[in-house]
Amino acid sequence: MTLLHWHYPTEILVGEHASSQLPATCQHLSVQQPLFVIDPSLTNTNAIKYILSQYQGAGPTAPVFDSFTGNPTGEQVESGIATFLDGGHDGIVAIGGGSSLDIGKAIALVARQQQSLWQFEDIGDNWTKADTSLIAPIIALPTTAGTGSEVGRASVITDTQHQCKRIIFHPKMLPAQVILDPTLTVDLPAHLTAATGLDALSHNLEAYCSPSYHPMAEAIAIEGMRLIKLYLPIAYTDGTNLQARTQMLIASTMGATAFQKGLGAMHALAHTLGARYNLHHGLLNAVLMPYVLCANRHYLHEKMLRLSHYLELEKEGFDGVLDWVLELRKQLHIPHSLSELGVDNQEQEAIAAQSMQDAAASGNPIHLSQEQYQALFNFALDGKLDL
Ligand SMILES: [Zn+2]
Repeated sequence: MTLLHWHYPTEILVGEHASSQLPATCQHLSVQQPLFVIDPSLTNTNAIKYILSQYQGAGPTAPVFDSFTGNPTGEQVESGIATFLDGGHDGIVAIGGGSSLDIGKAIALVARQQQSLWQFEDIGDNWTKADTSLIAPIIALPTTAGTGSEVGRASVITDTQHQCKRIIFHPKMLPAQVILDPTLTVDLPAHLTAATGLDALSHNLEAYCSPSYHPMAEAIAIEGMRLIKLYLPIAYTDGTNLQARTQMLIASTMGATAFQKGLGAMHALAHTLGARYNLHHGLLNAVLMPYVLCANRHYLHEKMLRLSHYLELEKEGFDGVLDWVLELRKQLHIPHSLSELGVDNQEQEAIAAQSMQDAAASGNPIHLSQEQYQALFNFALDGKLDL
C-alpha cells in the first residue's frame, strides 16, 4: 500500500485503504472522543463498519450522528450540536458526500460558540466573531468525488424558513486532515458518480472561467478538468476501478481548491433550484453547464482556446469545449433540460431574482441581470441552447 501525504491546501492522505490511518490521525490531532458524522445511507456498509470497528477509542459502539438529509438544514445542524455536546465530544470525523462533510463542519464550528448558526453566515466579517479556540478539529473522509467540501472553509446549509441556502464560513472549518480513500467510493452508484463528478467539473470550469486574477487557482482548475476528462467516464462505467476513483477524488479536491477564485451562474442557479426543489446539487450543475457556458461565450474566447488545447479536444475553442461537455453529459446519461428534473416555470421571476443575489453569482465572467437569469433559466428549462 503506497500512501501519499500532501500538505496543500491542508494535510491530505491519499491512497487505497488510507482510512485505516484514522485512529493514528485522531491521536495526532489529540482527538479522544470524536463524533462520527456519517451519511445515513452508509452507516450499515462494510466500509463504514470497518472504520468504526478499528477505531480504538470509540468503545463498543462508536458515537454516530446520522440524522440528516441531503441538503442539510439548520434544524439538523442544531440536532447534531446537541449530540456533540451531550456526548462530550472533542472532534468531528465526517464521512460521506458533501452533505455529511458540510453538516459535520458546521457542527464543529458552532457547537461550543455563544452565537447561533446563522450568525456565521458568510457576510462581511461575521466569521471573526467566533472564538477560534472552541472550534473542534475536523477529519474528513469523502465517499463521493464532487463537492470537495473536504478542502473547503465553508458549509452550505438550507434555511428552511426562508427557502434558501446559506453559506456558513470560517477559515478553521477547513478540515485539519483529509483522507482520500478510493475504496470508500467504489459503492457509489453510477448515476451519483456522474452527478458528483460533474459537480467537480463545474467547480473547476467555473473557477477557470471566473475573471478574477488567481493564476494558481487557474492552473489547478485546468489540470482538474483534464483528470475528469480522463477518469470520470471510467469511474462511471467501472465503479471498482480504483485508479479512476482515486483520480476523481483528487480532481474533486482540486475543484474546491480552485473555486476560491470564484464560481458563477451555474452555482448561482443550482443553489436556488436546490433549495426550492430539493434536487441533487451536482445533477443541477450538470444540467445547467452548457446553458451557462453559452450565456458567457463571448467573454471566454481566449480561455476556451487554451482549455481546448490543454484537454486535446477534437475541435478547438469554445465550440470544442461545448461539444465535449454535451458529449460527456450524454455519455453519463444526464438529462438535457431542467424540465426533465421536474422543474417548472411557475416561479421563474423569483428564481432569477434569488440567483442574481446568490454569493456565487459575483464570480461569473459577466454580470447577468435578473432578466438574463430568467432567460437563462428558461433556456435550461426547455433544453434550448443559444447557438
Ligand atoms: Zn458545486
